[in-house]
Amino acid sequence: MKRSKAVVKVMSPKRDPNSIAPLVHEMIARLGENPEREGLLRTPERVDKAMKFLLGGYTMDLHKLMNQALYSVKYDEMVIVKDIEFFSLCEHHLLPFFGKMHVAYIPNQRVIGLSKIPRLVDVFARRLQIQERLTQEVAQTIEQLIDPVGVGVICEARHFCMMMRGVEKQHSGAVTSAMLGAFRMNKETRDEFLSLVQPRTEI
Ligand SMILES: [Zn+2]
Repeated sequence: MKRSKAVVKVMSPKRDPNSIAPLVHEMIARLGENPEREGLLRTPERVDKAMKFLLGGYTMDLHKLMNQALYSVKYDEMVIVKDIEFFSLCEHHLLPFFGKMHVAYIPNQRVIGLSKIPRLVDVFARRLQIQERLTQEVAQTIEQLIDPVGVGVICEARHFCMMMRGVEKQHSGAVTSAMLGAFRMNKETRDEFLSLVQPRTEI
């Protein structure tokens, strides 16, 4: 019997000093709801779990993730990974913004495994963000990892804080970009990238 008690103690989310469940309980009450009613009873724990997943970027080890996936090659043409879906939370309202990111670079003897680029986007998307910084961080990280000839990142997103409140423009999207190296200096390179990932409005 003692043993099962100990298990319960460990598994109880309320014992976790980093749990936000008590704060969510308090928030629900302050918003005028009854946190003890049946439907809301487990909500604080669910929110704790959900937020830790959505903001998991803080605990991801970028270098561990990437070190196994950097390769030396002779390839020197543009590499593009299009339509990388991402979900983030805006740092002003803690509301979701989401969309697609297009990432391109021209290698300088080193490349990143293609499947790792969406992971890299997740590392930065799963934080409290603004779209502009998210775009920059993805571009700068690729630059730091493989020192390419250039990097281009375009991010198309829709923001719940715009759609549900404030201006309430349900269909407006925001597009941000970060152009480094050849993508910034060379119009032809930039145009090639842009023509391949024409920003679309249907996100
Ligand atoms: Zn916002």
